[in-house]
Amino acid sequence: MSKIQSLRGMSDLLPEQSAIWQYLEDKILTVLQSYGYREIRFPILENTELFKRSIGEVTDIVEKEMYTFADRNDESVTLRPEGTAGCVRASEQNGLLYNQIQRLWYRGPMFRYERPQKGRLRQFHQFGAEVFGLQGPDIDAELITMTARLWRDLGISEHLTLQLNSLGTAACRATYREALVVYLSAYKEQLDADSQRRLDTNPLRILDSKSPQTQDILADAPKLDEFLDEESQAHFAQLCGLLDAAGVAYEINHKLVRGLDYYGKTVFEWVTDALGAQGTVCAGGRYDGLVEQLGGKPTPAVGFGLGEERLALLLDAVGAVPDSVGRHLDAYLVAVGDVSTAALLMSEDLRSKCPKLRLQNHCGGGSFKNQLKKADRSGADIALILGEDEAQAGRLTIKYLRQSKDQVTVSLDEAVALLNKA
Ligand code: ATP
Ligand code: MG
Repeated sequence: MSKIQSLRGMSDLLPEQSAIWQYLEDKILTVLQSYGYREIRFPILENTELFKRSIGEVTDIVEKEMYTFADRNDESVTLRPEGTAGCVRASEQNGLLYNQIQRLWYRGPMFRYERPQKGRLRQFHQFGAEVFGLQGPDIDAELITMTARLWRDLGISEHLTLQLNSLGTAACRATYREALVVYLSAYKEQLDADSQRRLDTNPLRILDSKSPQTQDILADAPKLDEFLDEESQAHFAQLCGLLDAAGVAYEINHKLVRGLDYYGKTVFEWVTDALGAQGTVCAGGRYDGLVEQLGGKPTPAVGFGLGEERLALLLDAVGAVPDSVGRHLDAYLVAVGDVSTAALLMSEDLRSKCPKLRLQNHCGGGSFKNQLKKADRSGADIALILGEDEAQAGRLTIKYLRQSKDQVTVSLDEAVALLNKA
């Protein structure tokens, strides 16, 4: 019979890679918690309407990337393509937003029907952070410095640059949009097909068109930053001041618009050139209008999403994965002779008395030589050897596999002391 394969763009994470992911997730979690962020979990499947209304009907995601289908009751449901919409929905529905400040994080799989390539999958994984109820630039600065700290902790700061822009308030975006449309309409025939279509539907997205000809035309187009009102200018200037004070370097990129409709004022991306075309590792911004757009009271909000696949690729590409990450065992118990009961009991006892110990029992028998080879290949530092004599005496032999230390035969208590020290 033929074997069933995974779906295109949905990959399996094998133990060797999942060790890197665990390392990564641990670091991210520690940083998030050190700023007082708390976890929220919400479903992977939501009403299609939620994403249409938040991300925007005329965006790449909603137009062509969503996994949308009718469930058995003929309701249109969608696998979440990102986390912000669901986070807002869940927070609002559960009364977390009204008159409150929330610092939240989430993680998990997201789904987009894209052309799979390195760093671009159909099921990918994000960590997200969202803050509700704060409108000042101080919280934008906190989120960005928090990500900068994460890059430092992961040892990858030098490979990432921060791109920063302000999209202004909804009002100045609307004025700018008109000016841009007037300008671009004169060149409509020369624009790429996507941009022509967007001229009527979502003209701001034309700014990040990949077409060189469109980019040439844009060179003389009106610039968004010239349309920012006082409020938006002040917000952006204060944010830049805070980042300067915190020593977080940034490049202002007036063409950075982001692919989702809900952003306003601050937008940012952390990009690397170590991953080819898929260089954006983390992206976010302010979305003060979204909660209201989804039926809640007006609530300022800001957040970011971080792609775990790309971050894991980056760690690997720049050699930032510590050696210890690949090691999953401290000790390997070799049991020779008729000692399977003693091996079971002794290893259980050791795990109870050495709470941090990662100990694997050989199981399955075999010669001493063979078992020792397995112990060596397991990556463990220590082989614990239990023969019939040792089992009788309640003792075991400690053999150091990576150090030139003599092996010792000790009592269980002595072994506990040695293992807790190691
Ligand atoms: P891109 O421009 O690369 O398509 P995006 O703007 O669509 O990214 P966001 O919606 O901002 O991405 O998502 C935040 C982060 O999630 C991205 O910066 C990236 O790290 C990651 N990401 C987005 N789409 C994918 C994907 N298909 N596969 C893997 N990671 C992804
Ligand atoms: Mg995309």
